[in-house]
Amino acid sequence: MDIGGLETVVANSAYVSARGGAGASGASSRDRRHRARLRLPHISQCEALRARLAGRGPGDGGAQGAAGQDGGAQDGAEETSFRWQCLEQPIGKRLFRQFLEATPGLAAAGALWAELEAFECCEEAERGAAAKALRGRFFSPGGAEHCGFLSAAAMAPPAGPSTPEDFGLARKELLAHLEATAWAPYRASPYFGRFTQFKWLEAQPVGAEAFADFRVLGKGGFGEVCACQRRATGKMYANKRLNKKRLKKRHGYEAAMVEKRILARVHSRFIVSLACAFQTKTDLCLVMTLMNGGDLRYHVYNVDEDNPGFPEPRAVFYTAQILLGLEHLHQHRIVYRDLKPENVLLDDRGHRDMGGPPLPPRHRGVPPVPPPGFMAPEVLRDEEYDWAVDYFTLGVTLFEMVEARGPFRRRGEKVENQEVTRRTLQDPPSFSERFSAAARAACEGLMAKDPGARLGFQAGSCAQLKAHPLFAAVSWGRLEAGLVPPPFVPDPRRVYAKDLGEVGAFSSVRGVELDGGDAALCDAFASGTVPVPWQEELIETGLFQELNVWGGPGQLPP
Ligand code: ADP
Ligand code: MG
Ligand code: MG
Repeated sequence: MDIGGLETVVANSAYVSARGGAGASGASSRDRRHRARLRLPHISQCEALRARLAGRGPGDGGAQGAAGQDGGAQDGAEETSFRWQCLEQPIGKRLFRQFLEATPGLAAAGALWAELEAFECCEEAERGAAAKALRGRFFSPGGAEHCGFLSAAAMAPPAGPSTPEDFGLARKELLAHLEATAWAPYRASPYFGRFTQFKWLEAQPVGAEAFADFRVLGKGGFGEVCACQRRATGKMYANKRLNKKRLKKRHGYEAAMVEKRILARVHSRFIVSLACAFQTKTDLCLVMTLMNGGDLRYHVYNVDEDNPGFPEPRAVFYTAQILLGLEHLHQHRIVYRDLKPENVLLDDRGHRDMGGPPLPPRHRGVPPVPPPGFMAPEVLRDEEYDWAVDYFTLGVTLFEMVEARGPFRRRGEKVENQEVTRRTLQDPPSFSERFSAAARAACEGLMAKDPGARLGFQAGSCAQLKAHPLFAAVSWGRLEAGLVPPPFVPDPRRVYAKDLGEVGAFSSVRGVELDGGDAALCDAFASGTVPVPWQEELIETGLFQELNVWGGPGQLPP
């Protein structure tokens, strides 16, 4: 393969070296000046914020307020909920856990919580022994860590062999117990003060100067997508720029807003997350998870051109991950609508993730319209549709990963869209010997023409689909926790993106002036930092541990 022009080589090497530096030991790739500015405020600066987070009346929080608005906590009630403060926000959860650990009378419950989480991701071979150890430690009356608050039903051993759901009821009761007995003392403790210090820091304004830009990775509808690095932490991201004038000219504000809101709301290992949204004079910017392993289309067709398509286990691995991403979206009442191999991106470890904007559920005929061959029959018939469309396209994607062609066209065949539509509505797909019986059955179930008969999301989960024989080898808990080694790991020195010259430039936008109305729209877009990814970033880069020291000025010892 041609390595491209000199410009690309230089840009790639800067990018690869920044990427390499930003691992768990990212300290070396941080910018010292920016890192130094990341300091917890004096606790006295956080009083108003603390009152707000404790649900004690209004208060402007001393910072930019409304950080929770688009950031996962959807409204005031949720911002002060136990769930949001102690379970969903990574730093909130860590501090709550530290509080439990340090509090006599709560430490056993805290330890049980940690053990239950470990149990859910343990290897199948170790599960029986792990369950036994857990029971002995926490369920034995008279034991030092006996959790007497659990009901007999929660402690009863399972009738059959051990499964990851064995302690489901215990976990539910444990969290209810913690909410009832530990949450109030936690909120009166210095640990909650520390939490408000982090929340204050999180709410500080963020702009382009917080990031260093690297090479262009791709071209979107309204601007380029670049690799970038947060100067203070060294963490790499992708920055998708949307040119304001181009947005105005092509009436793109609303779609941009929808994309931002949805990305800010979903937090799944299998969906790119939004770290922050800000604006510059010319652009709206979305800073999101960097997916630098290339897209699945490229991997299916271009990596080994003489032998396209994946061995079935690899296709099943990606299908399982996509399934978890879809389940998460559908639990948040979001229909993705645009699933196809091209929109599935790999990260640097070879795990997959969905890029592009998912859309809210139940609507019809809203662009972008998926390409022919990826449209479910009900969409082609212009009927009302729901998330079942995403399982149809999951079937198409699985088919294409195995077979290296779409189910409704022969390889290399030129077909009119009209004919693809006809086949999608009427013809069953034809399977080659590349498919196992299980893969074929799963494809048929997913590509059922009648959405009511299709495999997919039912009663709030994909439990039934996950139990399909196709996924017999998949350990869902471990996959969800990121513990399953991927079948293919992208080369860390390689850049899976087009050469700079091939990305293509934008023509300048003429005849559009921005006014006060645009400024208001842009301000609404630029909502700043999204809590969950920001907190994950601080933990992952070691900054949380560096900042979370006790005993300094204004930082009372617990
Ligand atoms: P648009 O929605 O405007 O079409 P896309 O989201 O499709 O923009 O992004 C355009 C291109 O930028 C993609 O095809 C891909 O090459 C690249 N890209 C987008 N998001 C990421 C990401 N998170 N990580 C790496 N590259 C990305
Ligand atoms: Mg695109
Ligand atoms: Mg897109």
